[in-house]
Amino acid sequence: MALQLIKITKFYQFGKNKQTVLNNLTIKFPSKGLIAIVGKSGSGKSTLLNIIAGVEKANSGQILIDGHELERENIVQYQKDYISYVYQFYNLIPSLTIKQNIILPALIKGYSYNDIEFKMMTYCNQLEIVHLLNNYPDQLSGGQKQRVGLVRAFLCQTPILLADEPTGALNGIQSKEVMKLLKQYAKQHLVIVISHNISLIKKYTSQIIDLDQNINYYDFKTSKYHKYSTYFLPRQSKRLFFYIKQQIKYQRNKLIMMFVSQIFIIIAFVLLLSACNGGWLYLKNRFQSDPLKEIIEVYQNDYLNTMFKEDDITKFKENSLIDDVSFKLDFSQGVFKGNQNFEIYQIKNTKNFDYQSGHYPSKENQIVINQKAAKKYDLKVNDEIEYELNGISYSFSISAIINDYINEGNNIYIDRNIIDENLRQQLETKDVLILISSKYKQVLDKYQDDFLLVSYHQEYVDSYQMLFDLAYIVVIIFISVSFFISIILISIILKTIFIERKKDTCILQVNGISKLRIVSLFGFEAMLIGMIIGIVGSVVAFGTLFLISLFDLDKNIIGINNLFVLPRYFLGSFDLFILLIFIYIIICWISGVHGALIINKMDGSILLKEN
Ligand code: ADP
Ligand code: MG
Repeated sequence: MALQLIKITKFYQFGKNKQTVLNNLTIKFPSKGLIAIVGKSGSGKSTLLNIIAGVEKANSGQILIDGHELERENIVQYQKDYISYVYQFYNLIPSLTIKQNIILPALIKGYSYNDIEFKMMTYCNQLEIVHLLNNYPDQLSGGQKQRVGLVRAFLCQTPILLADEPTGALNGIQSKEVMKLLKQYAKQHLVIVISHNISLIKKYTSQIIDLDQNINYYDFKTSKYHKYSTYFLPRQSKRLFFYIKQQIKYQRNKLIMMFVSQIFIIIAFVLLLSACNGGWLYLKNRFQSDPLKEIIEVYQNDYLNTMFKEDDITKFKENSLIDDVSFKLDFSQGVFKGNQNFEIYQIKNTKNFDYQSGHYPSKENQIVINQKAAKKYDLKVNDEIEYELNGISYSFSISAIINDYINEGNNIYIDRNIIDENLRQQLETKDVLILISSKYKQVLDKYQDDFLLVSYHQEYVDSYQMLFDLAYIVVIIFISVSFFISIILISIILKTIFIERKKDTCILQVNGISKLRIVSLFGFEAMLIGMIIGIVGSVVAFGTLFLISLFDLDKNIIGINNLFVLPRYFLGSFDLFILLIFIYIIICWISGVHGALIINKMDGSILLKEN
């Protein structure tokens, strides 16, 4: 391996001012050995190292590797296979343990933990940091961190090791130890080390680049190399799942806060939606059991002529939408015995009645009453109700008590076909017809111009429907707004979490992780967080629903059985949860990717140079 810098110029532009840091500098490095860069502070040492590391780009000039020019598109590969870096300000990743910090670059460069474990322990012993391996960076002194940084770089075994003031934070003895290690490493690799301790440096190398002298040509080449020798055999980077795991652990306080708030929102969301849905189902059930569901009353529009003729009946009967037509029975002509007061409704048998006891009338003069009438007059099935008309007494026997939650009052429901023929004829009024039809809307459409049609059932349904539509809209708006706000909150928190990691990102990149991989890494982490929030939230919400149904809380507190029923959209009762988890995953992923993109745009070179 041979590295050459050819006519490198680097300047920084501040508005109109231009500060030239490196001017037309050519350096031909040996393939191995220890090279020192010296110079006073601000002379461009770190900048030079960053240019060699591919972190900064020179304004002009070339970098040649084994005679090949280093192109933009090869930089990531070059950083991965060629470069390891000891930073002046250590740049350890705060969320990782010392051990994880040490192995991370080696993993990126394709070594497995087994490959490097022995070497790691040897170096750690030599530099006396073994006892620190499970600590976190913020528990270490500057000198300790510097030694960690050295071990981290040594383990990468790259042909080029760059060290920016590696002894800056060390005492005399430690500095000598480090220089010895660097010297030893330089027997097989190229080591470029920055130092302002010239006397120390001179003890270990005579190959010195002094940026304070106006020299712009250095040739340390000791042997010829073949111009087109091959690139290093690339190794596949190892997976960095532990990095993600460690990040989630490190951010746990923020994440827990986010979790808790999200889980409350998910529960509220699920409860509200299921209550709306369950409430509506409950009402639909009630509507279904309405004894007057298929009953339509018909009046003449004409005030002078209110009577119906047999013709009219025949006409209605011919319509296939209508199952049956008859004159209404008017019970107000007579009285019930014992001051009993009933509302009388005509009904037709359907299987939807909500029977409390008994069965539908099957014998003459059997009737059905509602639960209120039964309670009020203390009536049971088979009890008789006496009705008197024109001095004649008729007795109705109760065949069933039904729950009618829709029609108020003490009600009797009569099927005209069960009533005594003689009585029926006396009760018939010619000015109201009773139609029996399950297609009220169509019947209404057809006849409303000529007649007045009334369906008590439909009136109820309509009024509830309106109420429910309104409630639905309110709930949906409320849920959407709070969900939207919470999603924005998540994305802000996630983005700040990721942007705080800009230094991590630089370190990953210097070691040869592409920007795309950073994006996918952070996106994956965010997705994982989203999935956890979604799943935990769903499980908790589901558990809440389960507990409610287990202890019949809805029945006991609100008085409605099965109030909290989740709507089914496409996959059954879980699809709301699946949708929720999906939304969280997507939103978090977008935030993660966005955060990573923001970091990618930042200038990493400053971050690595500064403390
Ligand atoms: P040294 O490491 O020798 O102390 P540096 O290479 O860090 O010096 O910096 C050389 C000069 O370039 C300094 O004057 C510094 O302020 C300037 N400089 C370094 N990096 C940047 C940057 N990213 N943007 C602007 N100026 C910079
Ligand atoms: Mg510096």
